[in-house]
Amino acid sequence: MTMTDCASCADERAAGAAFCEACGRSLTPEPPCPNCGTPGGVGEDGYCEHCGMLAGRERDHLETDCGDVAAAVTDRGLRHHRNEDAMWLATRGTDVDVVVSDGVSSSFDPDVASLTAVTSAGEGLRDGLDLATAIGAAQIAVAKLAAEGDPRRQASNPACTIVAATVRGDAVTVGWIGDSRAYWVPEEGVAEQLTEDDSWATHVISLGADPEQAMRDPKAHAITAWLGADAGSITPRTAEFVVGDPGHLVLCSDGLWNYLTDPAAFAAAVREGLREQGTLITAARWLADYAITAGGADNITVALVPITPVGGEQG
Ligand SMILES: [Zn+2]
Ligand SMILES: [Zn+2]
Repeated sequence: MTMTDCASCADERAAGAAFCEACGRSLTPEPPCPNCGTPGGVGEDGYCEHCGMLAGRERDHLETDCGDVAAAVTDRGLRHHRNEDAMWLATRGTDVDVVVSDGVSSSFDPDVASLTAVTSAGEGLRDGLDLATAIGAAQIAVAKLAAEGDPRRQASNPACTIVAATVRGDAVTVGWIGDSRAYWVPEEGVAEQLTEDDSWATHVISLGADPEQAMRDPKAHAITAWLGADAGSITPRTAEFVVGDPGHLVLCSDGLWNYLTDPAAFAAAVREGLREQGTLITAARWLADYAITAGGADNITVALVPITPVGGEQG
């Protein structure tokens, strides 16, 4: 935390203000640790003073390793000058909360938007909110950013996508806004996309357009729903299911799925990573590297959560 000698600052900060009206000092807190979410936890050396993980000043490459329960990796890729994706991964026993967000590059401070989104949704889930309510909290937090900090945010407000999932035993709930995705990857067969992109292509295909032609359109990937002050009132969509056979829940940004649009290829890549690498974190790293090798045109985030039916055989 930054020490201050302005008595008013403390009150303003407690009220959530971005600037102290008395002294004009910026009250924007240090960014939270991407690993454990502790506000201002990351020290000058890039290590979190709370959890000890190397958080990375530039968010270029971050990993969260929860052993055999879950793992997630986010990487800048090759073409973007910074990582505007963000992730949150928390486990309690075998219960998992996971959130992935992708900043909208054409907005101002998209990296702040995505980090704000995963932090608010993640903290909401930690505090017991249901998934839709936690995403709603993230929507409010990201929308508020336009009126805080840099005045340029008002002209082009910070914006991002979100996909979040909770795993409770073998019950999975997924919620999303935008085109970051969740998949179910069974031990055999094609990946099942659990989310439906809020994108121009998905919209016109649902209205009857030819899918291949729609995907070739330059507007194909333009998102039709997002988090941000200009997003209007968007209700997150959610899906729930109970796992019947062992497999992996995968959350990712378009930096990965753009290189694996075929559901069979997506499933094959996830299984190859798991088989070749042997651990969740190395498999997640392998998938990020897959996207980088394929061109790395976007930031990449991928989270892996193995799930086995409760009372079922070990996979
Ligand atoms: Zn930390
Ligand atoms: Zn992206």
